[in-house]
Amino acid sequence: MSTYVYDFIEGDRSRADLLGGKGANLAEMTRLGLPVPPGFTVSTEACRAYLADGRPPAGLFDEVNGHLREIEIRLGRRFGDPHDPLLLAVRSGGRYSMPGMMETILDIGLNDATVAGLAAQSGDERFAWDSYRRLIQMFGRTVYGVPADEFERELAALRATTGPAGPDAEQLRGLVGTYKKVFAAQVGHDFPQAPHEQLYLAIRAVFESWNAERAVLYRRREHIPDDLGTAVNVMAMVFGNLGPDSGTGVAFTRDPATGAPGVYGDYLPDAQGEDVVAGIRNTVGLAELERIDPASFRQLTEIMATLERHYRDLCDVEFTIERGKLWMLQTRVGKRTPAAAFVIAAQLVDEGLIGLDEALHRVTAGQLAQLMFPAFDLAAAPEPLATAVGASPGAAVGRVVFDSAAAAAATEPVILVRRETNPDDLPGMIAARGVLTSRGGKTSHAAVVARGMGRTCVCGAEALRIDPERGEFTVGDRVVRAGELISIDGTTGRVFPGEVPVQPSPVARYLAGELKPEADRLVAAVHRLLSHADAVRRLGVRANADTPADAERARRFGASGIGLCRTEHMFLGDRRELVERLILADDPDRLAEALAALLPLQRADIEGILAAMDGLPVTIRLIDPPLHEFLPPLAELTARVARAEALGEDPGRDGLLLTAVRRMHEANPMLGLRGVRLGLVVPGLFGMQVRAIAEATAQRVAAGGDPRPEIMVPLVADVRELAAVRAEVEAVLATVPGAPPIPVGTMVETPRAALTAGDIAAEAHFFSFGTNDLTQTTWAFSRDDVEGSFFSGYLERGIFAVSPFETIDATGVGRLIRLAVAEGRATRPELTVGVCGEHGGDPDSVAFFADAGLDYVSCSPYRVPVARLAAGRAAV
Ligand code: ADP
Ligand code: MG
Ligand code: MG
Repeated sequence: MSTYVYDFIEGDRSRADLLGGKGANLAEMTRLGLPVPPGFTVSTEACRAYLADGRPPAGLFDEVNGHLREIEIRLGRRFGDPHDPLLLAVRSGGRYSMPGMMETILDIGLNDATVAGLAAQSGDERFAWDSYRRLIQMFGRTVYGVPADEFERELAALRATTGPAGPDAEQLRGLVGTYKKVFAAQVGHDFPQAPHEQLYLAIRAVFESWNAERAVLYRRREHIPDDLGTAVNVMAMVFGNLGPDSGTGVAFTRDPATGAPGVYGDYLPDAQGEDVVAGIRNTVGLAELERIDPASFRQLTEIMATLERHYRDLCDVEFTIERGKLWMLQTRVGKRTPAAAFVIAAQLVDEGLIGLDEALHRVTAGQLAQLMFPAFDLAAAPEPLATAVGASPGAAVGRVVFDSAAAAAATEPVILVRRETNPDDLPGMIAARGVLTSRGGKTSHAAVVARGMGRTCVCGAEALRIDPERGEFTVGDRVVRAGELISIDGTTGRVFPGEVPVQPSPVARYLAGELKPEADRLVAAVHRLLSHADAVRRLGVRANADTPADAERARRFGASGIGLCRTEHMFLGDRRELVERLILADDPDRLAEALAALLPLQRADIEGILAAMDGLPVTIRLIDPPLHEFLPPLAELTARVARAEALGEDPGRDGLLLTAVRRMHEANPMLGLRGVRLGLVVPGLFGMQVRAIAEATAQRVAAGGDPRPEIMVPLVADVRELAAVRAEVEAVLATVPGAPPIPVGTMVETPRAALTAGDIAAEAHFFSFGTNDLTQTTWAFSRDDVEGSFFSGYLERGIFAVSPFETIDATGVGRLIRLAVAEGRATRPELTVGVCGEHGGDPDSVAFFADAGLDYVSCSPYRVPVARLAAGRAAV
């Protein structure tokens, strides 16, 4: 018989696959000797079996009973004992933390008989009846889907009749009677009185909560697999709602928003469980706990220090104090903002807990990208409407919406404004630019979820009176209606009316060389980790840049050259006319004239870029797109010509252009006359470009520069194409004195080029994978046509985990890349191999390219620091 249940003293944190994160960490804390109420974990395996068969695996509840017996013996208290009952918490917890997405039921074991025992044992009758009514409500909602409102309505009605002290024991006993009626009416049978039946039903409900809609949505967003299942933790209850010397709280070992050292948390006296996380009542800080209960506070901070040393990372904890006795209910390595991730990693290095290599794994390149986003220009900001808790940083501007559905449906940027959020708000939080709540602190649901997904969030803005029914909120006598613009600052917690302008982030300014590394704690941490990434990475990082300004920016961001300089932009703007002349040329003389007119322009552009990248390689790609892209669109020309004809005028040049456009029209331009094919068909076109490059190089040399151009031929599929172009290139180069030898290489962006890379390498000094085209041609779909049509369906059905245009398809396209690298280098061992598609700036793809043994990636200038960090992470 297989084993599905593990006592907390059996497990440890390495078994999170089986025990879930919460169960594994409860076990770890138990092993560390920390005060954890006794309990056991029903494994994820049991959940998977349950979800597969629709019923609990054989023997599961026998095992549960056996382990329950152990708890009873340890505590000297029996489950269901009417005199002194053991009560249980039944808690979900999968491999990856999904805050608030699945279910937890507290106070299992209460019924009409045991409620009296609880009252006697605690000496608090009011507490006992309050716990019972909580159970009926939680159980009704979780196991039978009874809307919380059905109960809340009765509670509110009762509260309206009582004084500020709230309902007394007798009134709560009456409320339990009402709740039981609500339960029976909604569910169709009475609230189950048998404690074991409650327990089994609760376990099944937690299993099923794995597939709750919001949990599925959360997993999709966080890329968590759907087939893991959740574990179920069953443990003895402890009570934070036994009066002023009890309470419950959530704490972090450092500030999860900024990374600042020092414990940080929220505490709610005389409260149970989810009251804190739901942000329903406003909490107090840990400093207040220190005042109320110094002994428990001291013990808590000691435990947190132990946990941080043990996990060697920021931890968060959930704890409860029952009449002055501290209990630990949860810990995990805590979620944090991108800024906190960098700051904490650097601090842990300073504290000797981790090394720099490990520090690189504590941050992600995606987090660095987020830190480069702009922030509000506070000098230009109006008086804030309110200042509250900055719970998840960022500068978000949007129109006010009050419900999740409106946020999800909005076409313009919106800010979701709520009193508090709950897991059902997830779609709205995903859709909104930012989230603003009037209740709850840094540990409220809104804050935790927003931080996890990098959404800007301001919490606990108590000055706001939010009235969703009227579609407005008020601050003092000021009214802000749905649809009005507001700006929220998730760093400072400020809420501004209207649209506040944004300015570059300090990290971006540091990366651009405008701030010194010691400017602030965050910048210093970024500097430290990025420097280490540069020191360890084997992959070079170049930039895609077409202008001297872009080249300079790329250089400041740390690019070691240009991996893709597109020459076609040099054909745009007022030069279009020169290109039109080229296309319309109907004899060799006119063609030569048109090319000669373009030559000096190209030469000047290239010289500027070579100057900006002096001493570093610049890979210049010969013209790639089909020439008709430079002509006016067919419909526009047709209309112009028709108009002229209707007026009896001569359409002139438009007529000629229209004929050319009709002649050159392609049903699928992506697979038509472009790239190397163009160079072979239009005599002298590549030759002119090569001459411009050679002459620009010679001029740079004459001026004392160190130009390092490389000539790259696009869309090659066969070595003979490249050989033909190369002959022309060498012939032109031989006629330009004063230019050093210039390497000639090719893009590898067709499957055939990859498959014949060994042959092609005989003619190429270097390869550069054009992964955009290679992805299109390997999958046989054109990006422009598919991204808006069936891609979302493919993502939903799991055919892709992520768009292959965003992250390289390592299995298919990646296989072609590996093959081409191996066969290219077999022919020419010194072959330089890079990549210049969008993928060059995508962290996951960068890791793949490092593994495939490429020499460099090339990406847009702003992604250069991101790629540097990703390359460093790939190397350690
Ligand atoms: P989540 O994963 O959504 O945080 P939890 O399983 O942690 O859900 O439960 C929510 C809350 O219930 C906890 O924060 C804690 O305060 C309370 N709780 C959990 N277990 C117990 C227990 N054994 N005794 C008292 N309260 C508990
Ligand atoms: Mg929890
Ligand atoms: Mg291409």
